[in-house]
Amino acid sequence: MEISENYDYMIVGQGIGGTLLSWFLKKQNKSFCFIDNNHHHAASNIAAGIINPITGRKYVKSWRIEQFLPIAKLTYSEISDFISTTIGHDKLIYRGLYNIHDENTWETRKTDEVAGQFIVDRPNSEEYDGKINGVFSYGVLKGGMQVQFPIIIKKYREYLRSNGWIKEERFEYDKLKINEESVSYGNIQAGRILFAEGYQAQFNPYFNYLPFEAAKGDVLIIKIEGRPFDNILRHKVFIAPIDDEHYWVGSDYRWKFADDSPDPLKREELIATLDKILNVPYEIVSHIAGIRPCVKGRRPFLGKHPEHPNLAIFNGLGTKGASLGPFWAKHLIAYLEDGIDLDGEVDIKRFVKS
Ligand SMILES: Cc1cc2nc3c(=O)[nH]c(=O)nc-3n(C[C@H](O)[C@H](O)[C@H](O)COP(=O)(O)OP(=O)(O)OC[C@H]3O[C@@H](n4cnc5c(N)ncnc54)[C@H](O)[C@@H]3O)c2cc1C
Repeated sequence: MEISENYDYMIVGQGIGGTLLSWFLKKQNKSFCFIDNNHHHAASNIAAGIINPITGRKYVKSWRIEQFLPIAKLTYSEISDFISTTIGHDKLIYRGLYNIHDENTWETRKTDEVAGQFIVDRPNSEEYDGKINGVFSYGVLKGGMQVQFPIIIKKYREYLRSNGWIKEERFEYDKLKINEESVSYGNIQAGRILFAEGYQAQFNPYFNYLPFEAAKGDVLIIKIEGRPFDNILRHKVFIAPIDDEHYWVGSDYRWKFADDSPDPLKREELIATLDKILNVPYEIVSHIAGIRPCVKGRRPFLGKHPEHPNLAIFNGLGTKGASLGPFWAKHLIAYLEDGIDLDGEVDIKRFVKS
């Protein structure tokens, strides 16, 4: 086919990963086009988009969060201006503590130099009073946020469409032609191709040697009249506000699953949990499921293909696309455009292609 479109970059996948890559390319005045098959179960369409600075049962600081947060806040605020919609909201996270032991562990975290910065010293939990069952007390986190991925994806797609920079179809790997200085696909030629397919990268013949470990999660969207709480609750599940009356409820982690459809058993489990913990009436609006691009070792996958330097990957955002995405997308583009070294923790050179 004759080449009729020429770009600096072709990007496969317009989830949050691909979108952020193009955002940093745009800042460098690079041209790009996307190929995306609009997969409804893609993680970015399902995620709550929570940035949680302290995680796990032992309340440990999230990996490099102090580095990631400033870039995330700035990037989401710039994107909000660009799409004329606020997509990042600062939120407190109320974490259920279940006994005096939990409370003591939480209290000792306050003295940690880095983790302590994210803990509210004398929290006020009035907004949950009488509405939640089964909590001994709350540990409250500040500095976190909630990013509305589905809105970013939708609005950014409108921008891409209006410029003719997106083809909404499945990328067929066997149709890619790799030349010395460029790649071509149908009528498109580009200097480089960036792969950001989320969990579907396991089907990419150029990068399927990497240890992907996709994790499925089911979610309920519920309606509660009168928006009884504004912040995020983590008590058995996350309950996070989406708009004036809807809340996101979830989720679980499953590494073995037959497909990406919502699982009726998980719906029942989520309802049973909600019935136990919520003391206000709610209505189920929908049940959705998505697959996280998790990877072994839990560090993102960035870098060029070992034999074809004009092919690169951006993947492994796992459970934390909202915090990891902006920092590592910026890093990958600086590596490709400005020649900085890739951080060894995320460089795919740590895996040998056999
Ligand atoms: C239930 C759930 C809850 C989550 N909650 C949070 C949270 O609270 N906070 C947080 O930070 N993260 C959360 N995540 C994780 C977050 O969603 C991911 O880290 C992030 O969205 C990954 O983005 P991505 O762009 O890499 O992949 P994806 O979102 O999967 O996007 C990949 C895109 O590539 C396209 N694509 C793939 N293959 C092809 C092909 N061959 N041709 C064309 N297009 C293709 C797909 O259609 C899709 O649009 C959650 C995920 C799930 C499932």
